Amino acid sequence: MGIEFPKVRVNSLINAQTRNWDVDLLQALFKPEEVQLIRGISLGDVSARDKMIWPHTQSGTYTEEICDHCKSHSEDIVHALWLCPCLNEVWEADTGWSFRNTVRWDDFQKLILHVEEVGLDLDLFAMIIWLLWHRRNQIKVGNSATSLGQIVACARQQLQDYNLVQPMKPATESANLHTAVTWSPPRAPFLKINYNGAVFQDSNSAGLGAVILDSVGGVLASLAENIPLPQTVADMEAAAVRRAIMLATDLNLSSIVLKGDSEIITRAIQAEEQSLASYGNLIEEIRLHVDSFLNFRITHVKRKRNSVTHRLARHVSDLVVWMEEVPSHILPVLLTEAG
Ligand SMILES: [Zn+2]
Repeated sequence: MGIEFPKVRVNSLINAQTRNWDVDLLQALFKPEEVQLIRGISLGDVSARDKMIWPHTQSGTYTEEICDHCKSHSEDIVHALWLCPCLNEVWEADTGWSFRNTVRWDDFQKLILHVEEVGLDLDLFAMIIWLLWHRRNQIKVGNSATSLGQIVACARQQLQDYNLVQPMKPATESANLHTAVTWSPPRAPFLKINYNGAVFQDSNSAGLGAVILDSVGGVLASLAENIPLPQTVADMEAAAVRRAIMLATDLNLSSIVLKGDSEIITRAIQAEEQSLASYGNLIEEIRLHVDSFLNFRITHVKRKRNSVTHRLARHVSDLVVWMEEVPSHILPVLLTEAG
């Protein structure tokens, strides 16, 4: 057929003369249902240039969301979590936040920097913000949510709980620094994704796990999948990386640091040349996804245990994704292992 796979572009699937899909080629390359979907995409005029599209409204017109709370402002992040007048109850509970009435930011990052600069409790701020965000999402999907009057007390409580499960800091910054299990937040705006794989010999299966953490250690999403046992450990680890990357892609994350304990897979992804290993096709797929991130880093960490994945994936039968949470019995393990 004269087509080398790595060089295939959508362009190759279009007959240049007729400006129609090359159906024979489509049928040779894709499953019948995929062929049907592709043929359903109408090809425009030959002189049309590539351009950005906005598929989320029928008209293709970009629209801003109006804040559900006050119904009067467009809902950007600063409004939704800080400026919305409906949040007065939260931010006026403590005089520390009174600069809300005097200084205005349109940039959330500047707001965070200000909180840090003037020495306000950044941890508490982050926890309140997280609760407000969580509350907003719960309401959006029709779930019951914490009342605004409870938010500050709830944030203090959660912060206390979080601090209680933190591992003891080593007495000096020397001896066992490289093995110390401590939480290290990614440099904003990077999000950290921990991935892992675990073998379940008894059931002839493997568990894949991924947890996405924000810069204050909040869990954005977690995932567990049980798959048939791959041939090799490296195959399993490649599958775990692929699963983690796909989750980040699905969530439209732009800057991520991927962390896991597979040195082989980390190297294969970073390498220039094509991987000829059994997991080579997964590496290629991972690289394709990686290209779509604004910033991407992958690092290899030595990890003694992987009980998060064990616990996450042990009892799932297929693929499970949890948004903004991990099952409660996993959380303490996660917090001590997340480093
Ligand atoms: Zn509002």
